[in-house]
Amino acid sequence: MEQLVTSDFKLGIIAGGQLGKMLLLAASNWDIKTYVLDKDAHCPASTCCHKLVIGNQDNFEDVYRFGQQVDMLTFEVEHINIEALKKLKQEGKRIFPDPAAMEIIQDKGIQKQFFKDRGIPSAPFSLHANKLEVTDAVDSGQIRIPFVQKLRTGGFDGRGVSVVRAHSDLDKLLDGPCLIENLVDISKEISVIAARNARGQIRCFPTVDMDFNAGANLVERLVCPSSCDEATQERARSLAEKIIEALDFVGILALEFFVDTSGAVWLNEMAPRPHNSGHHTIESHVTSQYEQHLRAIFNFSLGSTALKLPSVMINLLGEEGFEGKVKYLGFTDCMAIDGVKIHLYGKKITRPFRKMGHVTILAKSLEEALQKAQEVKNKIKVIAW
Ligand code: ADP
Repeated sequence: MEQLVTSDFKLGIIAGGQLGKMLLLAASNWDIKTYVLDKDAHCPASTCCHKLVIGNQDNFEDVYRFGQQVDMLTFEVEHINIEALKKLKQEGKRIFPDPAAMEIIQDKGIQKQFFKDRGIPSAPFSLHANKLEVTDAVDSGQIRIPFVQKLRTGGFDGRGVSVVRAHSDLDKLLDGPCLIENLVDISKEISVIAARNARGQIRCFPTVDMDFNAGANLVERLVCPSSCDEATQERARSLAEKIIEALDFVGILALEFFVDTSGAVWLNEMAPRPHNSGHHTIESHVTSQYEQHLRAIFNFSLGSTALKLPSVMINLLGEEGFEGKVKYLGFTDCMAIDGVKIHLYGKKITRPFRKMGHVTILAKSLEEALQKAQEVKNKIKVIAW
């Protein structure tokens, strides 16, 4: 497949957010042309692609016409018009990951059923048509509090998830087709990013610990190496390998797990693309998740996922109470700290908890990286003018 990497080869990426931007930066090391489809002319990827096509990823015509312009299609999001992808595939377009895998992952209900059918440990669940059906099932004792409700489609970054711990939380139920699952007694949330190429070669990145911002339900800090024991990491890794193989998946697949208070590992969900929990790989691993995704979809050998230095990643989220033209405070001070790598996505407008950038902190020891990460967190703030 080496002949694909030529200056005439057009790689199309659906959506141009920060993940698309970082994928493009990796692609810019190769001699290929990059096209991006996004609604927003000023999306983060707009500054790094050869051609930006304005269009909606949910719209059949926009996705279909975009696909016709490129030699190969890939994604930085999972909510894409599947019918357009299927038609393009039928017509012979190279699409990685395959629309069939995307279809399973797009719908959390189908995703959970996929785990269940393959004996993958994931919280027991039931499917429901809407909020009323859920409240009826609670009243009849069919669903017992506590539980977690998740909309089947469209949710991200904790939006589309409602945790019901008491009757008073029933007000927070979301309306629409959803799944209800048992509340896991979580001691740790971890992630494994796996990659697979069309020849079936699989490589996983080392496990990371994901610390959440409770208010925003967003990953606030990633820690690598993980604090989990080797047996737990091996368990998560082997589940990741089993799933990526079962999906016959080509590209990057990110898997989020819960480790419960008894030490058991549960698969929460997966994403068919580079992932927030792999940002640190740009600086801290021999191969970044973005380069690995390109290696996988071009069917090259996968790169080494060895860790070069312990690292901590913090997301730069818009501060609460600020909305408007973005301003970064503390940037200069943070640049003075050794091992600090700042990424700003180039979003013009900040909002509370909007992902505006991230910082990876590398150090000889994890303790030093954690301490420096705290320093960065105290110094850097994303506000509006
Ligand atoms: P999203 O796709 O929006 O990221 P997730 O399924 O990852 O949604 O859920 C967001 C967060 O909600 C998780 O990171 C976890 O903290 C919490 N959560 C989700 N499912 C459960 C569960 N079954 N038990 C306990 N907490 C959960």
